[in-house]
Order: sequence, then structure tokens, then C-alpha cells
Amino acid sequence: MDRDMIPLLPVALFALIIFAAIVSTVVWAKGLYLNNPNKQTAVTRRRFLAGSAALTGGVVGIGAFTYSRMAPWRPIAKDIFLSDVEKSSPDYNPKWSGAKIEHKRLLGRTGFMVSDISVGTTQFLRHTDPEGLLREVLDRGVNYIDTSPDYGGSASETAVGNVIRDRKRSDLFIATKWCSSSGHVRHGSSVDTYLAALDDSLSRLQTNYVDLVHVHACDTLERLLDPNMLKAFDIAKEQGKAKFLGMSTHTPNLEEVAEAAIDSDKFDVLMLAYHHGAWPKQQRIIQRAAEKNIGIVAMKTLKGAKHKGMMAFQNEETSYTQAAFKWVMNDPSVSCLVVSYFETQHVDEYIYASGKKIEDNDIAILEKYDELIAGTHCFASCGDCLSSCPSSVPINDVLRHRMYFEDYGDQKQAMQLYAALENKIDLCVNCAAPCTNACPEGINIQERLIDAHAMLSIA
Ligand code: SF4
Ligand code: SF4
Repeated sequence: MDRDMIPLLPVALFALIIFAAIVSTVVWAKGLYLNNPNKQTAVTRRRFLAGSAALTGGVVGIGAFTYSRMAPWRPIAKDIFLSDVEKSSPDYNPKWSGAKIEHKRLLGRTGFMVSDISVGTTQFLRHTDPEGLLREVLDRGVNYIDTSPDYGGSASETAVGNVIRDRKRSDLFIATKWCSSSGHVRHGSSVDTYLAALDDSLSRLQTNYVDLVHVHACDTLERLLDPNMLKAFDIAKEQGKAKFLGMSTHTPNLEEVAEAAIDSDKFDVLMLAYHHGAWPKQQRIIQRAAEKNIGIVAMKTLKGAKHKGMMAFQNEETSYTQAAFKWVMNDPSVSCLVVSYFETQHVDEYIYASGKKIEDNDIAILEKYDELIAGTHCFASCGDCLSSCPSSVPINDVLRHRMYFEDYGDQKQAMQLYAALENKIDLCVNCAAPCTNACPEGINIQERLIDAHAMLSIA
């Protein structure tokens, strides 16, 4: 839970009043005692009892007020602490135990050989020992780490720094983003602002350089090709602080932004949302990038990571995650995939897929997954529905945040992201829903958005 999202004023007021009441009562009772040396009079007893009752009443009243202010958090806390969401394959297979990276691929023009299954750090802070978890992942042979200043309010970079300072730096490929702890560096920011953000990352990561710095979650050409960002990168490269430039995107404009990145010849690596059933043009984009020797990193490989409901895959010979990874890595133009580990089991389960070829039983499990999510999951985030909404509701973004909340179990990030959206969806309640039938995947947009609003709003 994000401390910034908890209304602190009532809590602080409550604590302060209780403290003041206790101190006043002690002082008052002491005064009574001193003024009544034989302290056995009925008047003294009555006054003391009346005072204590008043104190108790005040405390209970303030407690009730505070509780009512915090009430909207009840269902959220229940989802967080009492959730029965499955976060891993429900059927751990002992043969996964101790799995190691079996295959590395060239990351385009960077010349670096990266582990096919790599590590993203958006969610590893959910583990009770995130640094220990990351050490274990690296010990298994993973050598590409993706992080960002705005993962966990910079806690992700700090934890990564604590781990990599004990490792041989040149064995690792570290990617971060042009961001601060509160979000992207906005396009049009000064060169100094970009460079200061990078310096902050280097400080948290406890290293002199990053291998790659991405334009994070790039959704417009203005951000992609911001001249100040490009100039800042040239300076950082000259100073030895960053080696390569990249961009990541999972926007409805993915095709436009990725094509522009390839055409610009400014980018060494593209990190793209890519999973089984990805829209066809994406494979052409990846092919074009590979022809220009641009490294391709895949993300969002689990097509929505619908952890809830994974019991349907119990007793399958291969886990859904392994099948999904094999599908992505079956494309020879993809250098590696990044995935967040947040359960200890993930280390064995995910890394076991390294170097494995996709087989018929993998295809079968992917088809079964597609049946499971049909009509509910905006995995494509294609944006085809956006023009149908007269109120410009960012349908795909809201549904993606719902996915983070519901399926990733990352309520904190989901609610932060939702809170940052400009067009909320209370507009949907009384709308005639011209978006009905706008989704080629058959998603009931209005219903899913209204539910999402209830899920992602604090009050
Ligand atoms: S229901 Fe919501 S998303 Fe659909 S058209 Fe109306 S306001 Fe837009
Ligand atoms: S709701 Fe449907 S049309 Fe809209 S972005 Fe998601 S998959 Fe595409």
C-alpha cells in the first residue's frame, strides 16, 4: 500500500488528541489528589469517574470518526491481505528445481549476450526478501535487469543497487528509464533535468553507468523524439554514464511509435509488449527492427498474467507461464523477455523455460488460456475502441490498470496509475454506451469500466 494514498491527517489528529487527553487526565487526576490529601471523599471519586467517562467517550468518538474516514480502505485491504489469488502455477513440478539459464542471445547492436529469460523489477518488492530473490535469480544465470526510478517510488532501483554492487558489473546488463521517482521526465524538459534524473538513477544503482536508458512507456512521437532527451543521451554517452538508448511501449500507438523509433536510427533497443496472439503487424515491426540490428526485448509476455483462475491449469505437463515464454522466444528476432518475479517459486518456474522449444502441449495450454480470458481481458490494448467513446475515456489504460489490480495482484501500482488518469469513468454510469460492440475481443466495455472504477478508486 502506498503511504501517500492513506489520508494521514485523521490518523495523526487521532493520535495527537489521545496523547493530549491522556496527559491532561494525568495532570488533572494528580491535581485532584494534591488538592484532596485524604483523597477518599465521594466528591473526588465522582469527579474522577466523570472525567474518565468523558475521556473514554472522546476517545471512542474520535476512533469512530477515524474509522469512518478509513472505511473505503476496508475492501482494498481485504483484497490485499485476504486474497486467494493464485500467483504461480498451482502445480509446482519438482523437476523445475534449481533451473538455470540455458540460452543467451545477442541483444542487437549492443553486442551483449543476454539471458533469454531475464528479470523485470516492477513487482519483486512484493517478496518478503526482494534483494535475496534477485540474488537468486542472478545466481541462476540471468544477466539482464530491467528497472526504473518510478518502480516502487525508486525502491526498486535502490534494491537493485544493493544487489549489483557485489557483482562483477561487466557481467550484467542494466536497463533503466528517463524517469524520476514520481514518473516520466516530461517531454520538453531541459537537458539538465534529463541528466539529473539519470544521475539519481546511477546513485541509487551504485554504479558509474547504465547499459541502457529507455524512454519509458512511450506513447507519442513528441516524447520519443524529444530533442532535449536525445541531446541528454549524447552527453551521458560521452560522459560514459549510459551506453545505449532504448524505448519501451505498450500503447495503442505501439505500431506508430515503434516504426518511428526504427526509422529514426536513434534507438539501439526496443522493449515491446509481445505475447501469444499479438496483433500481426507487430511481428513485421520486430522483423524490421532486427534487420537494422536493433535489439528486441519482450515484455507483457503473459498476455494479462491472469494469475487468478490458474487452477484450471493444474496437472498440465507444462505451466502456462513456460508455454507463454516459449511462444515469445520462438521468434528468433527477440533477444530476451523480461518478467517480474515476486514469488520464490517463480525462480524455478520461469527459468526452467530457458532454451526450451515450443511443443504441441504448450500450444494447447495457450489455447486453453485464451478460452479462459475470452471476452474479459483487454490483453491486446489495441485501442480500437477508443474512437467510439465521445468522452475520450482511456478505455485501454483503465482496463490495463484493472489487470494490474485484479490479476497481477499489484493493487498499489494499479490505484496510483488510475489516480493519475485525467478522464475517469464515472462518465460511464449514465452513458448510452456507444462503445458497445467496439471491441473485437467482445469485451463488455461499459460493465468492465464501471467495475474497474469501484475497484481502483479510494473513495
Ligand atoms: S460507457 Fe464509458 S467508455 Fe463507453 S462510451 Fe460511455 S463514457 Fe465512453
Ligand atoms: S477493450 Fe478491446 S478494443 Fe479496447 S483496447 Fe482492449 S482489446 Fe482493444
